[in-house]
Amino acid sequence: MNPEKIQKTTPLSFPTKNNPIMQNVTCSRCGTPFKTVASAANETPPATHFCCAGCALLARVPVDEKGQFPVNAHLISALVTGFLYFNQLLFWLLTLLLEHQEKIARASQFCRAGAVAALAVWCAVAYIQWREQAARRADYCVSAIALGIHAWMIAGAIISGATPRAWPMAAANALLILWNARGVFRGKKSRR
Ligand SMILES: [Zn+2]
Repeated sequence: MNPEKIQKTTPLSFPTKNNPIMQNVTCSRCGTPFKTVASAANETPPATHFCCAGCALLARVPVDEKGQFPVNAHLISALVTGFLYFNQLLFWLLTLLLEHQEKIARASQFCRAGAVAALAVWCAVAYIQWREQAARRADYCVSAIALGIHAWMIAGAIISGATPRAWPMAAANALLILWNARGVFRGKKSRR
């Protein structure tokens, strides 16, 4: 083989798009170790890594010594997600109350509103994942499972002509939110 050709061959240790190399990093906020795709040779590696969207979001809402923090887009996206999930639970509660009072038509309306709120919560979490750029394969899997549950409940309701079952959609979104905020429960890593 021509020696010049050998020199031009890409070294095996360089990650490529089709053959990513994993590197061990720690979350810049909570200190959790995890594996992520290493930057390509021609890319500047990011200065910070976050284990989940929750850690990325909290790190971007800095709290000063007086406990004050800025109301920025990161904080607003978290508040909007919480507000939407609160509404999903509220619609479920109203559905149960109206069913108890045998106001079935009104209960169905609230149940459908709850299903719309459930999809809105899913979209809000997807937006946070996209914005914070901290999502990894497991996060996409959990998002796909939650969306699958929502689709299953809505498709089942359309086929049977009934209203979507509220509790699986509430549980799916609870799982989605808790999973994406898992680093938040580990607290902040101690600074030396
Ligand atoms: Zn973390």
